[in-house]
Amino acid sequence: MSSLKAELGSGIRRGKDYLEGLQDDRDVWMHGEKVADVTKHPGLCRGAHTLAEFMDRQFDDKYKDTITYQEDGKTYATSYLIPKSKEDVVKRGESFYEWASWSNGMFGRTPDYKNASVMAFASGADFLKEGRPEFAENMRNYYEYVRSNDKVLTHTLINPTFNFAQAKEGKYSDKVALQIVKETDSGIVVSGARLLATLGPHADEIEVFPSTLLKGSEENMPFAFAFTTPTNAKGVRMICRDSYDHGKSTFDAPLSSRFEEMDAVVIFDNVHVPWERVFMYREPLLCNRAFAETNAVIHMMHQVVCGKLAKAEFIVGLLCAMAKASGKDKDMGVKGMIAEAMWMAETVRAFRFQAESLSVEDQFGTYMPQRRPLDTSRNMFPKMYPRLIELVHLLGSSSLMATPSEADLSNDLADDVAKYFQTVNLESKDRIALFRLAHDVAVSGFGNRQVLYERFFFGPQNVMASIYYDLYNKDDMIAKVDELLNR
Ligand SMILES: Cc1cc2nc3c(=O)[nH]c(=O)nc-3n(C[C@H](O)[C@H](O)[C@H](O)COP(=O)(O)OP(=O)(O)OC[C@H]3O[C@@H](n4cnc5c(N)ncnc54)[C@H](O)[C@@H]3O)c2cc1C
Repeated sequence: MSSLKAELGSGIRRGKDYLEGLQDDRDVWMHGEKVADVTKHPGLCRGAHTLAEFMDRQFDDKYKDTITYQEDGKTYATSYLIPKSKEDVVKRGESFYEWASWSNGMFGRTPDYKNASVMAFASGADFLKEGRPEFAENMRNYYEYVRSNDKVLTHTLINPTFNFAQAKEGKYSDKVALQIVKETDSGIVVSGARLLATLGPHADEIEVFPSTLLKGSEENMPFAFAFTTPTNAKGVRMICRDSYDHGKSTFDAPLSSRFEEMDAVVIFDNVHVPWERVFMYREPLLCNRAFAETNAVIHMMHQVVCGKLAKAEFIVGLLCAMAKASGKDKDMGVKGMIAEAMWMAETVRAFRFQAESLSVEDQFGTYMPQRRPLDTSRNMFPKMYPRLIELVHLLGSSSLMATPSEADLSNDLADDVAKYFQTVNLESKDRIALFRLAHDVAVSGFGNRQVLYERFFFGPQNVMASIYYDLYNKDDMIAKVDELLNR
């Protein structure tokens, strides 16, 4: 019996068990030092505890009907539910939205994102048989393993760009890119680097799936594979960016004190991957087709659109509250600015509900939301979000800087602060709290990273746009032009 099959768990997991699982010998580095314990490290611990608290909500009567489901006497996260009807797709959407609303979309990489991908690969596992028959079984076993143990996954899909001209041609540099260096009876051995594991230090598992475009040549075979590995596997090392959690209070840094999800470059130094964790191997063209043909990309986009709706709604709420603070909300120009944000939120909402209401059964008997509205959303939100943040800047202006700290509410400055920071509609303390939140959204390192994340996390914008163009039913549109010309 394979080891994954022998390690099935009992379903949803409590936050304390998740945290205990992180206390292993994972090789995580930050600020020049090896992290001894990610649940205690000042730059990582509060993000880990936030996620643990979210996981506990799976046991809470208030949420459990939405975010969990029952099967064979066990309770699982809804993101693992293989949808067999439109109602299932809708339930999945409600669960994604619920998870995202806990952070207002600011903890973008909740585990449901990767769960959606594993679910889709498992339900479309027959696709993997094209590589080797046993790869489909591997995927189904892996799904059962992560679902029943409620594992938290990250993924690393992108090789570092060493030479852009080479990368554009779908080739990778053997100096830096992750590649197969050895094959043994027990598995494969890989070395190289991958970008960029959001939530990496907080994850139990890494999904190392194919980069989007690989030329189907012999030289690319060592770069073409899909596998998973435990985060603490020997030879896996994570190099983190600086933490944006600077230890401030939740008043001073309402977002970065809670939702630091961390991004890390992952180095693989002769990492052994057992065959049971391999799903594609030395097949560049198969790898290129995998996310599309298993429909994993659609189910991931579904999680994303629900999360972006929560995020856009939050920014609208923030802009309205900011405008109301000083009475700017009576100004026609300000109303127009905020209306622009409202249109974006309502556009994302329309994408979500159109996609869900037009759900269809796929070739594997699994229901999926309609691709086009989701794809439109994933192409447009990277442009919407920077504009939303620009609106926060334009509306907030100097108020984003007039932000004394929590300590100033009770020290020698307290009287000045109480007097000079009030507005017509808010006491100083409430005004400062609001604009510190706006600062964390739009000015802080945390906020700027959010903008970068929205621009890039789903892939290069030009590549996503080009895929969108290729899939669009252009002939139907051209036919309208032809009809007029020939009328
Ligand atoms: C905050 C943040 C979080 C992220 N989290 C994750 C994560 O969790 N997991 C993950 O895997 N990635 C993650 N990413 C990485 C993200 O997927 C990449 O940033 C994105 O795909 C762009 O790639 P790049 O950064 O290598 O940019 P570039 O150097 O521009 O690379 C572009 C790549 O896209 C392709 N490409 C670009 N232009 C063309 C073209 N004209 N023709 C053909 N191919 C082209 C090539 O493959 C090239 O290597 C994250 C990024 C950010 C900023």
